Amino acid sequence: MLLNKFKASELIEINHYIGGQFQIPSSGEYFDSEDPYTGQVWARVARGNNNDANLAVENASRAADSWGSLKPSERGRFLYRLADVIDRHSEELAQIEVRDNGKLYAEMSGQTRYIAEWYRYYAGLADKIEGSVIPTDKHNILNYTQHEPLGVVAMITPWNSPLLLLTWKLAPALAAGNVAVIKPSEFTSASTIAFMELIDAVGFPPGVVNTVTGYGPEIGMEIIKHPKVAKIAFTGSDYSGQKVYEQAASGIKHVCLELGGKSPNIVFEDANIDAAIAGVLSGIFAASGQTCIAGSRLLLQRSIHDQFLERLIDVAGAARIGNPMLPETNVGPVATRPQFEKVLRYIKIAQAEGAQCVLGGGVYDGPGSVGGLMVQPTIFSNCRNDMTIAREEVFGPVLATIPFDTEDEAYDMANDSAYGLGAGIWTSDIGRAHEGASRIKAGTIWVNTYRALSYTSPFGGYKRSGIGREGGLKAIYEYLETKSVWICTKPSTADPFVMR
Ligand code: NAD
Repeated sequence: MLLNKFKASELIEINHYIGGQFQIPSSGEYFDSEDPYTGQVWARVARGNNNDANLAVENASRAADSWGSLKPSERGRFLYRLADVIDRHSEELAQIEVRDNGKLYAEMSGQTRYIAEWYRYYAGLADKIEGSVIPTDKHNILNYTQHEPLGVVAMITPWNSPLLLLTWKLAPALAAGNVAVIKPSEFTSASTIAFMELIDAVGFPPGVVNTVTGYGPEIGMEIIKHPKVAKIAFTGSDYSGQKVYEQAASGIKHVCLELGGKSPNIVFEDANIDAAIAGVLSGIFAASGQTCIAGSRLLLQRSIHDQFLERLIDVAGAARIGNPMLPETNVGPVATRPQFEKVLRYIKIAQAEGAQCVLGGGVYDGPGSVGGLMVQPTIFSNCRNDMTIAREEVFGPVLATIPFDTEDEAYDMANDSAYGLGAGIWTSDIGRAHEGASRIKAGTIWVNTYRALSYTSPFGGYKRSGIGREGGLKAIYEYLETKSVWICTKPSTADPFVMR
């Protein structure tokens, strides 16, 4: 089993999981996956193609009717069993995530322990999907709605939190009676394939959950194009999201797009400064800046600007950089080589545009580095909101600091962005907190906290940060069609050429 094998030093092989079987790719081709901390290849990943995509979608499609018509409480029981199995294996899953994406063990083990709760929450909702009886303005008519599963849902995930982001899709989709074809990131496929061993152990009917691996524009696009795919639930960059959306549009398919961000963290002069410093740091350096909700723009009120920045630099400068598996490490590597190069490129652009680098600013090769993809926690001051570093998503440990004087100025800058995923407000004035929450155009607003998330609450973006919501009660309806049923209780021979 992959779950046992990953601990050994040998190279692991990652294959597709289709129709309840682990299968080698039809092309016989594999590509290498790197451990970002050591920079060494640790896995070979099946390179899927259109044949594999087709096989996975056909298998899912064959399973769709029986899964969709299973008693909802029975579907719920499968999800409860899955949650229990996750509890037993969360430790191994976390270790695989760390080998694959280099995020801190502390962060990933928190995630893999928590995902079981998503499955329990949606397990409980499976038999609470109710339609309604609608009092229409027509005589002798009973009109009611019922909700039905969409069918085959393609789930495409990024490398930063593979299992958590898959769970946001898979738990509500399965509870609602859909079947899944999953395509994890080519950089981090191991944890999703290991997760298929848990799906197998629970005994889901073959074809209900399938995973294929490979490159997005290859097998990812083939899945999306398949006529039997009804919906694409995608998490990734806005660049890829746009391609996915365009293709989905040509097939008139449902989408949920969870995309990038350039979230502002706004610190007012009346904030609890210690709490704000901790919140700002957790927003940008906790996962080496590789979260969609990274608070990558720090908007600082000018009256506290210098003293706040000085303390922030002190605390960030003391962060321990190194092996993500060690509990004492605060900042690990970035996850992929292209991402590593991109982050360093953005640092150079910021310098060239006149931002002042007050911490870090390059590759980290100090104690704890073994030659992997390590970037120093980096802070720029004297940024303007029109600089590249304040407009584009870096997805790395790089913070752009921008001063402001008035509330209006802060909110204008917060909203002057192509994105609208999250925002933080640090203030001790409750009125200001509410006003900020209503004025900022973003899917999530945190006041005096940052990065808080739960299965109970909706998550998603405004503008280029996405379409649709994951989490909470309503997310299950994102995986359902609504049908309106009209029953005439007193049939008549009214004029057939006139609309009733
Ligand atoms: P990415 O867009 O490069 O890749 C995401 C997934 O899409 C991968 O599985 C990839 O193979 C696939 N893909 C890429 N091009 C495709 C195509 N043309 N057709 C089909 N599939 C395709 O993103 P990434 O670099 O893996 O992840 C980082 C991005 O994800 C960041 O922009 C980040 O903000 C975003 N993200 C958003 C959220 C959110 O919930 N809003 C959460 C995490 C990450």
